[in-house]
Formats: sequence, C-alpha cells, structure tokens
Amino acid sequence: MNNVAATELIFELSQPGRRCHRLPECDVPPVEETAQWLPTCYRAAAPPPLPEVGEVDLIRHYVNLSTRNMSIDTHFYPLGSCTMKYNPKRHERWAALSGFAALHPLQDEQTVQGILQLLYELQEFLAEISGLPAVSLQPAAGAQGELTALLVAAAYFRDQAQPQRRKVLVPDSAHGTNPASAALAGFETVTIKSTPQGLVDLNDLRSHLGPDVAVFMITNPNTLGLFETQIRTITDWLHEVGALVYLDGANMNAILGITRPGDFGADMQHYNVHKTFTGPHGGGGPGSGPVAVRDFLAPYLPVPIVVREGDRYRLDFDRPKSIGRVHTFYGNVGILLRGYCYIRTLGPEGLRQVSQQAVLNANYLRRRVAQILEVPHPGPCMHEFVASARRLLRDRKVRAMDLAKRLLDFGIHAPTVYFPLVVPEALMIEPTETESKATLDAFADALGRIVAEDPEHLRTAPHTTPISRPDEVKAVKEPILRWHPPSATAAASSIADAPVVTTAPSSNPEPHAHPAG
Ligand SMILES: *Cc1c(COP(=O)(O)O)cnc(C)c1O
Repeated sequence: MNNVAATELIFELSQPGRRCHRLPECDVPPVEETAQWLPTCYRAAAPPPLPEVGEVDLIRHYVNLSTRNMSIDTHFYPLGSCTMKYNPKRHERWAALSGFAALHPLQDEQTVQGILQLLYELQEFLAEISGLPAVSLQPAAGAQGELTALLVAAAYFRDQAQPQRRKVLVPDSAHGTNPASAALAGFETVTIKSTPQGLVDLNDLRSHLGPDVAVFMITNPNTLGLFETQIRTITDWLHEVGALVYLDGANMNAILGITRPGDFGADMQHYNVHKTFTGPHGGGGPGSGPVAVRDFLAPYLPVPIVVREGDRYRLDFDRPKSIGRVHTFYGNVGILLRGYCYIRTLGPEGLRQVSQQAVLNANYLRRRVAQILEVPHPGPCMHEFVASARRLLRDRKVRAMDLAKRLLDFGIHAPTVYFPLVVPEALMIEPTETESKATLDAFADALGRIVAEDPEHLRTAPHTTPISRPDEVKAVKEPILRWHPPSATAAASSIADAPVVTTAPSSNPEPHAHPAG
C-alpha cells in the first residue's frame, strides 16, 4: 500500500475559476443567431457543472487515485485460488501488435490465417496439457467453462437417451461457481462431504452413486491445496455407474507437465487462462475459460472450432450436435493470445518448472505460517494452503478478516478469507511461483508481528488506507464509477455513501467471503 499519510483522500478539488485548458476563440455563432435552427429544448440553460481544477492538481488527482489500487505489479498478492502471478510485460507488447490488435472478427477467414493458426495451436497445447483431445476456446471465464461443460454433458446424456441423469455431485470444499453452474445447466446438485483430512469422503461419495448421477465435479488439487490421492478410484467409480467426471481446472498451476486430468480419469475440464497462463485479471475480468473434453464429447462443444486443412485454417460451424455458441465470435482472444505467448515462451520444461516452483513456494510459506497460525490440514500442500484464525478468534476475539485488513497496512494484498467454507476463519494463501524467498519471508514476518498486536488495533485496521471497512457487498453491487457534481450528489441517493469518499464504518461489517476471481 502507498505509504503517504493517506487516511484522508480529498476527492473534491474543484474551485471556481481554476483552469487546466485554454480554448481557442469561440467560433460558434451566439445563441440569438442559432435560434431559428436549434430548438429551445436542445439548448442548455446553463453551462454544465464541470469540476474546475488546475492541470497539476488534475494530474496528481488521477495518479494518486491510481496508486491506491493494489496490483500484482505493486504488491505481493497471495490471493488463494485466484493465482495472481506476475503477468510478463512482453505479452502486452505482442498482444498489441497491429496484426492482432487491429483484426476485426468479421474479417474473411482467408485474411486472418495468422490468428486462426495461433488459436488452433493453442487448442492443441491445451489438449496436450490436459490429456483431453477436444478443446473449445470460447468460454470467457472458469465459471462459464463449467457451465459450457455441463451443457455438453446434458446434451450427451440426452443423445444417449439417459434423461434420468439429473444429479451433479459437488464436494463441500468446491468453489461456489460449481453448484451455481450445475443449477444453471438445469441439474440438481448434491453436496459430497470432505474427510477431516480435507479430501473427498469416499463413503459419502459412494452412498450417492447411482444411475441418476450425471457428473461429479472435482477440483484437483482441491481448494484446500491438497491433491486428491484417491482420484483414480473416484473416477473409476463414477465411470462404473455411467457418469462423467468434470475437473475444475482452476488449480492447474500445481500440476502443469506433472500429471494430466485426462490421465487420472477426468472426462472434461476447464482452464482459467487468466490464472494459470497469466492473463492479467482482477476486478472481474477479462477472463478466458477454455474447455477440454474427451473425443466422444467433442461433437457437443460450442461452435465454431478452429480446424486445420493442409496448411490452411478455418472455422468449423458444421457441427450439428453442438450446444451452440456460448460467446460472441471466438472468446476473449486477447487473453488467449497472452496464454499462447506464455506457453510458447516456457515450453513443456518451463511449464513443469512453474508448477514445481509454485508448490515449493507454497510449502515453504506453509511451514512458516504454521508457526504463527493454525494450519488445519497437514502438508505437504500443492500450490496453496489454508490457515485458520479460529484459535485467535476464541482467545483474543481477532478474526481472519482483521488479519486480512491489517496486512494492507504492511503493503500486502490480503489472502482469500472465509473460503473454502469447510475451514472456519479461513485464510487461503497462494504465493505463486513468481515470488522470491525474501518476499515470502516478509509476508510471514508481517503476519507474525500482526498476530502479536493489540486486538483493538487489528479490529479497526487498516489504518493507512483512505477508507477502512466499507460495506464490501454494497461496494461491489453499487460501485460509484462516475464523478457527480456536488449539487447532484444528494439527488442521486443511491450514490450518497459512495465507497470512494466515505470514511464512515460500514453498516454491515460482516466479512465478505471469497472474491470472484
Ligand atoms: C477461479 C475459480 C473458479 C472460477 O473461475 P472464474 O474464471 O473466476 O470464473 C472456479 N473454481 C475454482 C477452484 C477457482 O479458483
């Protein structure tokens, strides 16, 4: 976090008469002369109430605002599950090449052979990395990838005349998007318990298996950062009852080039290109969630798919069993392009090293954090781990949210809190492979200092940010994205407690759980 004495941000800088522009002589005829051709109703009665500021004030205003964001380029960002890894800047240069950036999606195929080749090769890479041969690049996020795959599964079972398969099984540690996607796709969701060790409870799973099960959605490594060691047994059981296995691939960062979902029995998976393959993301976008499936599910994938014929590439729309489109054109090509650059830059060995380093970093940090907070599931972990502030809450009335808020004062983005739901007072920490040992140590040192602080100081943290504890739900649902002249602010009552300017404590201090992303 920016360390200027920043508890108060003066947002309203306007002073009558201040200027940061000089306009040329007005050459528009005076009002009287335009009266005959400009009807009165289109004429402003008074000039618009624009802010009046000097140029330097204006520049400082925006630059200061921009530094109040936390980003991967400015701060350590161990937001579990979201894989906030460094986004190489050369990807931005490549994505901005006019041969990519100036393309129009309605151009004739013959004129866009380069990007089609790139997308085709990306489909091939994603097929190879997952061990699942057919890929659609269309979905715009992991959640949409889940929905797409479940619609593919529904179409497949319709085709197989098995409409009785209504159930989708989801572990209780799963990301909230899993049950939401199942419900959107028209399935009934059934929650499968975890064992105290944090893995799928096989007895509970077995008790739900039957001819009405369509899909088991499993995250592996799971959201506790643990590898489901029984994965082969699990996928065999599902296949024995004729169901499909869906892998939530958000955690691919732990297993790139080490194991493949297709090899351990998954039939479908999504990728989060914006997580695993470094698409810059945050604040809700942009994302990309390609789906990879087994051959027998390929006919149901969204249209179009990029196909290769000799040395030419084309978009194949002739897929009668397809579920149709899930996105305009070909998905978020700009993010796919960055993912392609990442994969090509690193190659198979490099990708494998990414995962090894991510797992090493997480385990190093887990050992350090375990000396400070309870880490309920013993390691080793994969690319992330979950700590709990349960004891701190019991003994000192300090919650996970208080630690998360106080970390901001130390210039560290908070870990994910209150997710997964199976761990009380959870802090989910994912350092990623791009952080140095020094940064990991600095995080653990900060956490160690924080837990020793006065509880009251923690409950009122952060102390160095312009606002302290906004109503996070409201800030997301009703963001104030435009400046309103002060006189209009009262009228627009929904923006009266704008998160940008308020310093009042939130009316609803309940912590908000997992950020999307
Ligand atoms: C991020 C994530 C998702 C959802 O992906 P989005 O791209 O945010 O829609 C699903 N499952 C897990 C485990 C995730 O971490």
